[in-house]
This record gives sequence, structure tokens and C-alpha cells, in this order.
Amino acid sequence: MSRFWSKTVKELTPYVPGEQPKLSQLIKLNTNESPYGPSPKALAAIAAANTETLRLYPDPNSDALKQSIAKLHGLTANQVFVGNGSDEVLAHVFLGLLKHEDPILFPDITYSFYPVYCKLYSIALDNIPLSDDFSISVTDYLKKNNGRNGGIIFPNPNAPTGKALPLKDIETLLQSNKDSVVVIDEAYVDFGTSSAVSLIKQYNNLLVTHTLSKSYALAGLRVGYAVGHPDLIEALERVKNSFNSYPIDKLAMAGAMAAIEDQDYLKKISQAVIKTRENLIQSLNTLGFETIPSSANFIFTKHPKHDAAKLSAALREKHIIVRHFKLPRIDQHLRITIGTDQQCDALVKAIKEIL
Ligand code: PMP
Repeated sequence: MSRFWSKTVKELTPYVPGEQPKLSQLIKLNTNESPYGPSPKALAAIAAANTETLRLYPDPNSDALKQSIAKLHGLTANQVFVGNGSDEVLAHVFLGLLKHEDPILFPDITYSFYPVYCKLYSIALDNIPLSDDFSISVTDYLKKNNGRNGGIIFPNPNAPTGKALPLKDIETLLQSNKDSVVVIDEAYVDFGTSSAVSLIKQYNNLLVTHTLSKSYALAGLRVGYAVGHPDLIEALERVKNSFNSYPIDKLAMAGAMAAIEDQDYLKKISQAVIKTRENLIQSLNTLGFETIPSSANFIFTKHPKHDAAKLSAALREKHIIVRHFKLPRIDQHLRITIGTDQQCDALVKAIKEIL
């Protein structure tokens, strides 16, 4: 730390991203990427992109991609904002829509990037504890601070629990919380959760974020987006333009648009992940694990008789990496990304040997 650092940066505890190991031959089940390749049509579109034009800047508004996303969701392009991954979209959301006098609300156990944005942008926050069964109770949000808040945000399904909130509960929240923005981070929605995008026409304070990193198997392309009322989107564009950032590069545009068009492929690989997930839950529970029913491409599980940190370390020795969080309430859990059937079989075999 040097005397040249700003106070904010001195006090910042940065987000620690999941490890991207340099070793090959590892079974990598730690960062919720897809075990399958992206749509072959997306790869073909990237390969066929006009590289002659790479000397020129990309379209600052990513209009063509916004049109594709709008068409996918039955919206108009002015209801779409795009960014380099949903993390960048969320950064703009925190600055443009969640920075107010009243504290913003999110669960105590959730995507660990949210508190980092709050710290970075000096946003006041109130954590709302998850229930004993790790579910989100919307009435807790409505009761907090006599219903006054600077905005509400949570992933649905939540991370790292994988637990989804039914759409009717989100609607209850929207009906009773009309004075601030409600952001639903749907990074994992394609693995079996009803999307809140269908509610956008009714609620002008609802913003939904999506990513191409998980179900589209394109984490390396860095494309994410938000959809909502044009007024919310305009705030995000203002923030983006203040950074003078070009959201999507030309190759990523080509790949993302082709991937979004190939919904059959998305459904095929998402269904495969769901099937493997259910089998893995069953196999682990047979070994004594307690696993939260998951609506994501990962599971959150613990073994009552085995320490999670030790289990994670033992798996690593067998070249399998899973995610362990050293955080209160969840330090006995492991978050395990759903791999291929073969990878999950290897995981179960390794766990049997360790136990
Ligand atoms: N939201 C949640 C809940 C996540 O788990 C992640 C992935 N770490 C993201 C957003 C960001 O994903 P990306 O930036 O790759 O779109």
C-alpha cells in the first residue's frame, strides 16, 4: 500500500475471483463455467468476422446486438443495455441506479461482488439474512427501514446457494416496493428458474441482468446485458458514456449474436447440465451429503461429518477443484460446478476414496 493510494482503495477488500489454474488435466468445477463448448454457429460467426475492420473502433452503441437481445425477449432495443460481461453491467447499475441516500438491500449470503461495488462507490448497504433454509424472504425486505431503501438486488437463483425464488414472490416485492429499483441478477436463470423478464412491461422499476458466460458457454467472450424500462437503461448509458467505454468488441458482437440466435443449442446444453446436476445430487446425498435443491449450474452441499476446507484440499490433490468460501454460516459448504457426466463421475469416485 502506498501513500499515493486513495482512501477508498486503501479500505477496499477486492473481490477474489475463482481460480483459473494454469495446469491442464484438472477437473475444473470451481467457477460455474459450462463444461460444453459454445454454439458451433457462434464459433463459425467469430471465425467468419471481417477482421479487415478491426483497425476501426466497434459500434459504441452495440446496436445490432441490442436488436438481437430485444428480439429474444420481445422488447425494444431501448430496453436493452450491454456490457463486457454482466459484472461490468452490474458496476454501472450500482453507480447509476443503486447509489442513493437510503441503503440498498441484498442478502447476507449472495454474490460476493455486490459488497465490493458498494465499497468502491461508497454506497450504503443493509444485508438481509437468508432464512435458515437459505431462502430469500421478500417480506424481510419490505419490513426493513419501514420500507425505505435505495434499491434491492439479488441473484435469482441466488449464488452460491443455487436456490431460486418463485416469480410470484418477486412480483409481491415489486408490487410493494415501487419507489426504488429492484435488480434481479439472472446469471443462472437458464438452468430451471422462471425469468422476471416477463414482468418488465408491468414494472418500470424492474431491471433484469443476464450473462452469456454460463448457459451460453461463452465466459471468455465477456458479454452481459440488462433489460428494463428505457428510463433505467438511459441511466446506465449515461454512466457508460462517462467512462467512454466501448461495450462489446467486434468479434464478441459476432459471436454473441450468433449464440443468441441459436436457442436450440442453448436449450440442449442447459438440459444436459440439469440432468447431470440431478444425478450428482443423488449420488452425493447417498454418500451422506446434504445438498440444497439447485436451480443453477452448480450445487451447494455439505457433509455433516467432514470438514469442507479439508475435503476441498483433498479433492485438489486428486486434481479436482471445487469452491470453498471461508465465510460465516457457509464455511462447511462446498460449491460445485456441474461438469460433464464423466467429470461428475470422477468427482464422486474421488469423494468416495476420501471419505
Ligand atoms: N452474477 C452472478 C450471480 C455471478 O455468479 C456472476 C459470475 N461470477 C456474474 C454475475 C458475472 O458474470 P459475467 O461477468 O461473467 O457475466
